[in-house]
Amino acid sequence: MTAAPSEPFRALTGMRDVLPPEAGRRRALLAQFAAAAGRAGYAEVAVPVLEELGVFERLGEATDVVSKEMYHFTDQDGTELALRPELTAGVVRAFVQHAPTLPWKVWVAGTAFRRERPQRGRYRMFDQVGVEVLGVDDPDLDVEVVALAWQVLADVGLRDVTLLVNSLGDHEDRARYTEAVRSYFEEVRGRLSEGEQDTLDRNPLRLLDAKRPELAPVIARAPELSAYRSDESASHYERVLTGLRAVGVPYTEAPRLVRGLDYYRRTTFELTSGAIDAAQNALGGGGRYDRLAEELGGRPTDGIGFALGVDRVLLALEAEGVEGDTDPGLDAFVVDLTGGEAARDLTHELRAAGLAADRRFGGGSMRSQMKHADRSGAAVALIVGEDELQSGEVTLRPLRGHGADGVEQHRVRRKALVAELRALQAPAPRPGDGEH
Ligand code: AMP
Repeated sequence: MTAAPSEPFRALTGMRDVLPPEAGRRRALLAQFAAAAGRAGYAEVAVPVLEELGVFERLGEATDVVSKEMYHFTDQDGTELALRPELTAGVVRAFVQHAPTLPWKVWVAGTAFRRERPQRGRYRMFDQVGVEVLGVDDPDLDVEVVALAWQVLADVGLRDVTLLVNSLGDHEDRARYTEAVRSYFEEVRGRLSEGEQDTLDRNPLRLLDAKRPELAPVIARAPELSAYRSDESASHYERVLTGLRAVGVPYTEAPRLVRGLDYYRRTTFELTSGAIDAAQNALGGGGRYDRLAEELGGRPTDGIGFALGVDRVLLALEAEGVEGDTDPGLDAFVVDLTGGEAARDLTHELRAAGLAADRRFGGGSMRSQMKHADRSGAAVALIVGEDELQSGEVTLRPLRGHGADGVEQHRVRRKALVAELRALQAPAPRPGDGEH
């Protein structure tokens, strides 16, 4: 046996424990996302957290996520493995492996890992939800995908969100634009930090989203992509913007918005929150890509998708003061003054009938059990004393502020209890209620 540590273990740097009630809010968010994606015809997929390193290297070695931030290691059999830094590569790998019929419209939720410098809103382990569509090259699909990301954030109650849209053009457009950006920044190389000069050498487009305030005026004068788009990609982009206006999704054009992957082309977008710190204000983003399926060993296939950062969305909800759905709470808390059998049997019976019930273990006085009942957030306390036990009844006592307003304390026959508690349950709110 190993000796106990001198200090208690703590979670690793940048990896956080999600405790109640945040965990409940996160689950509610996932449920809202799943429902919205389901309404748009997307089916869920789940792919492994670990893949061969090569799967993620295909995302582009010039990106920091791949070159600097991946957790990777050699397995006992010598295979190079990596923890996924994002969800797209695994989904496209699965697409290539299983060759489903086209188009493939899927949603995915899961954890990703990046060895970044941790700060509020930026962790080494975080959750994303997203969608991918493979096999469709139609600008109206871009509208569907962008609108879905927008709708999810609206559904959860965020109001201070900006949608930035751009089109990277096709590969040739992008290559010519990259050259223009490279030579523009070459001329001001002296004003770049060491890290920025390194970015200039590896992936000049990334300089356009460098965060250092001193660089902002330089970036503002950098060439814009619009001058480099082919007629075809310009008309694709026009159709996307027209579509967004038609479905009522407000957007801001961001002519210098570029995204990390080498395979992004045409539509690219990002959603930012005005309520959280500027350095971490990206709630999510996505875009159209191609060649990824090919790079992973499949046929050339068009793809488009987005990922939303769950941790960031929760931060934005908190910053905007949105209450959000939490767990519905307990219907009843059983207070047993007769030794515990009644609490044991009654909680079981209520749960089997679909009600949420809890109790205090270890007994205790009426006063102490009632204190626990109050803290539990239950709508009512069900009190069983000797008297109730004899008469086959319980005393139903509404708990203040817990949703049983207007109900007086009274006795209920055990047989009638389930029906009475159901009648007390408030009708569950439906998504969209109260929004006009
Ligand atoms: P990306 O693939 O970098 O565009 O990530 C998509 C979204 O995931 C971002 O907009 C963030 O909301 C979220 N995200 C990315 N990296 C992190 C991180 N280190 N910690 C928390 N959320 C992240």
